[in-house]
This record gives sequence, C-alpha cells and structure tokens, in this order.
Amino acid sequence: MIISLLDYKVKGLNFNREQTGTFGSQMRASGFLGSLITNAKKDKLHLPIMSFAYMATLLKNAGHDVGFFHDDGDIPKNTQLVFIASSMAGYKIECGIAAKIRKNSPQAKIGFIGAFASVKPELFKEASDFIIDGEPEGAILEFIQGNKALEGIVHSPQVPNLDDLPVPDWDIMGVDNFSYFPILPKKPFLPVITSRGCTFNCDFCPYMVSQKPAMRYRAVNSVLNEIETLIKKYKIKNLLFRDITFTMNKKRIQELCQGMIDRKFNLDWACETRVDLLDPELIQLMYKSGLRGVNLGIESFNLDIMKKNGKKPDSLIHQNNIIELMNKLGIKVSAFYMLGFPDETEADIQNTIDYSQSLNTHFAQFCIFTPFPGTPTFEEMKGRLLTEDWTKFTEYYPVIKYEKITPQKVEQLRDKAFVSYYFRPRWIARYGVNTLRSFFN
Ligand code: SF4
Repeated sequence: MIISLLDYKVKGLNFNREQTGTFGSQMRASGFLGSLITNAKKDKLHLPIMSFAYMATLLKNAGHDVGFFHDDGDIPKNTQLVFIASSMAGYKIECGIAAKIRKNSPQAKIGFIGAFASVKPELFKEASDFIIDGEPEGAILEFIQGNKALEGIVHSPQVPNLDDLPVPDWDIMGVDNFSYFPILPKKPFLPVITSRGCTFNCDFCPYMVSQKPAMRYRAVNSVLNEIETLIKKYKIKNLLFRDITFTMNKKRIQELCQGMIDRKFNLDWACETRVDLLDPELIQLMYKSGLRGVNLGIESFNLDIMKKNGKKPDSLIHQNNIIELMNKLGIKVSAFYMLGFPDETEADIQNTIDYSQSLNTHFAQFCIFTPFPGTPTFEEMKGRLLTEDWTKFTEYYPVIKYEKITPQKVEQLRDKAFVSYYFRPRWIARYGVNTLRSFFN
C-alpha cells in the first residue's frame, strides 16, 4: 500500500505539532525581541512528530511504501492512505488540506492523529475517513496485524511495552528536516524516547491527554543501543530525550548516563524534567555524559497558585540551588513560566516575572495559562472561556475570563516579561553575545 504521512508546513507559521502534548504550539510573542525569537524558532526549531517516526517505521517494516511530507503537493497522487498530524491552532488549515488531498487523490483514505483530533473529533469528521483517538502507534500495530479497520473514530490502545516499538527509520522522515534551536544548535540532531507517562498528573498538563499518568519505561540497554545506531547511521551530534519527565527514576537515569559515558558517545544532549527530580549528584553525572540543555517547568513564583491549579510545586530554595549549579556548569536552562493563572492578580504575575529574573536562566519562556480540552482544568474552566476559537489556544493569547485582572493586561505583562527578561544587564552580560550569535548563524 502507498502510505503518506503529512506534517503540513504553513508558510510563515510554525505549528510545532509535536509540542504541548501534540496539541501543537505556535509561538507568537510581539515586540522586537518577541518577533526575533518567534522568527528564529520558526526557521530553526523543527521537532519531528515521534508518533510519525514510529508509524512510518512500523508500516515500512510491514512492507508498505511509506513517505513523509511537509507539503500536500509532494504526496504521490496514487497514495492510498494519508495520515495528517492535527494541531489546535492549525486545525482549520489541516482540514482544508485534507479536502485538497481528497480532490487530488479521491481513492485515498484520509485520517488525523494528535491530541486535538482525539478530543475534538467532531471538528475533523467531515474532512476525514478516520480519526485516531489516543497514541496512534497501538492502532497501527493492530492495523498491520489485520485487527483494526481505519474507519470513523479508531480507539488506539497504549503500547504497554515501549521496547516493542522499532528504532525509528529516520531515512523516511529525513534527518536534515529536524533541529532543536536554540538549546542544541548542532546538526544532525534527532530525538529519542526512553519513557512515556508522568505520575505527577498535573490538572492542566496537555501531555496527560495522550500519555496518561502511569509510567512506561524502556530498558536502558535498548535506549543505549538506539543511540549507538543513531550515531553510527546518522552521525548525530545532538540528541534530545523526548520524555516528558526524563529523571522520574533516578537510578535508571544514572545507569543510562553511565552507559553513555562507558560507550564514549560524546554527544551533546538535552532533556525535559522537573526541578524536584534533580539533585547535584545526578546533575554532575548527567553533565559528564553530555547534558548541555534542560527544559524546566517552573510555572509560577506563587506556590499556592500552583497547588490550587493541580501542580505539586518544588521548594524555592531547591529550585535556586539546582538552577545555580546548572548555570555554573554551563548547562543551558530553559525555564517555562505560566502567566495568568485563573485567580492571579497583576502583583502575582509581576512576582513570577521578578522571580524568573532572579533565577537568570539561559532562556525563559513566558506562556499564558491555557486550558486544553481533555484535561481536568479544561472542565473546570469551561464556564470561563473567552472564546471557542480554538486557533487562539496557542498559549500566547488569554482565553479565559479573569476576576482580578483583564485579559489585555495579561497580554501586556507577557510582552513585558520577554522584554524585561532579555534586556537586563545581568542576562546580557552572561548570555547575550553567544545567544545573539546563535540567532544569526
Ligand atoms: S510534571 Fe510536567 S509533565 Fe508531569 S504532569 Fe505535571 S506538567 Fe505534565
């Protein structure tokens, strides 16, 4: 069968459909600096959709002719099956593309994958033959075995053992397509998954919609073998662990890092985790094995607001100590902050902005609190939505009504957060020159 996978690139925009739990993200910060960051990310940050990498490999291994595309015009006319990656901000465009493909290839069955299509299938129904609900790999395994028809809403079971998935065949996806700017600027760059799930199960977390709280871990040796394959076959220089809480199990990560050192991988790598799952001993070992970048969800200075919104916070002292150590080692920390939690005041948001500056990490990302469908937070916020125009759910627009602040003020504070963060003598002195250089390389 001729099968096409489409992660549609929209000229001038970047939906990054792998991010935000596959709801996709679309950075839209305003002002000079916001525009500079937005444009650089648009050009230089391209994460592959991991489910596509696994699906492509499973289908190819089963004897199908599989292609991965960014443009519907490149899809072979005689394609028989098309999977389109959905996103929240871009769903109207994606449905339009499905209609175009249907016109050009009327024989093809067309389906959507991704968290937004899973939780809002009614929006995709007319444009498609099927919608995969859940992590798509399970449905693909059943489809290959002849146990699943791709029709209507296809409920996809989770793959219980992640080691049953193959090492992705990146030849199908095109290694040069991907990069992880600005944390890991070197190419070739590829991601690896070592686990799925997160037992913290925060109420607002979009990743929980598809990954669920229970942890599924791969065997450490299987991960090491995969990395070795990527080094030998694709000569990768940078690697991103795509786990949502990479250091959930300290012992396992120690084994993995020691294995990377013993096998002399000599790679720069990055990961995403929680600060309370890091300690100095672990950081030193991770650094020795090549850790050069970490994404951390700090979210807010106000620990009570975090608790109220269903996230167990870390102590501020521990956060400070851990970030100071990583800053000292030269590990690029990218800290994520959320502004405009439901009951925040202007002073609360200002406290978070001030706190971000005191931590002085290499990068800081300021998003606006956004309830994603399928999460407990969305159910709670249903009566407070300012809009049901889902294309505004990018984490850069206020989408809920506030009691103590206006949505316009939240937006203004978001812009102020970016400008006041990066135009500070302390940030410029420490990171300014190198960072600016990387934007123009
Ligand atoms: S700790 Fe992070 S990844 Fe885990 S559920 Fe909470 S927000 Fe999501």
